Amino acid sequence: MSLRQRPRPQADRDSAPWWEAVRRHELLLQRCAGCGTLRFPPRAVCNRCRSLEYAWTPAAGTGRVYSWIVNHQVFLPSMADEVPFAVLLVRLDDGDDLLMYGNLVDAAPDVLRPGLPVEAVFADVDDETTLVQWRPR
Ligand code: ZN
Repeated sequence: MSLRQRPRPQADRDSAPWWEAVRRHELLLQRCAGCGTLRFPPRAVCNRCRSLEYAWTPAAGTGRVYSWIVNHQVFLPSMADEVPFAVLLVRLDDGDDLLMYGNLVDAAPDVLRPGLPVEAVFADVDDETTLVQWRPR
């Protein structure tokens, strides 16, 4: 199946700069200007100090599998030849409370175990959309 046939993520006010960076194959995090805390997913307010000021900073692009699901259900006809596929929740190496989703690529789901080291890869779907996926490292 082609990624082109899938529904697309919809950027919102806070995540739009993140999606634009992903389009450039850059993985970014927000760093609070008030207390320095890194955060993801993007949001307007720091959970720690309530500051509204932040800057975007590069993420390492690596992490470890925290959890996952293996989808066997064909939710859309265009996904019929994709199942089963694994969707990962990755704990970023940048911080214990930084969790990011993405599909597993370049490996079968049976390699998955808690703590498996992974790295981000960028999948260009079309001229407007790029997705973050994860492969074992
Ligand atoms: Zn803060």
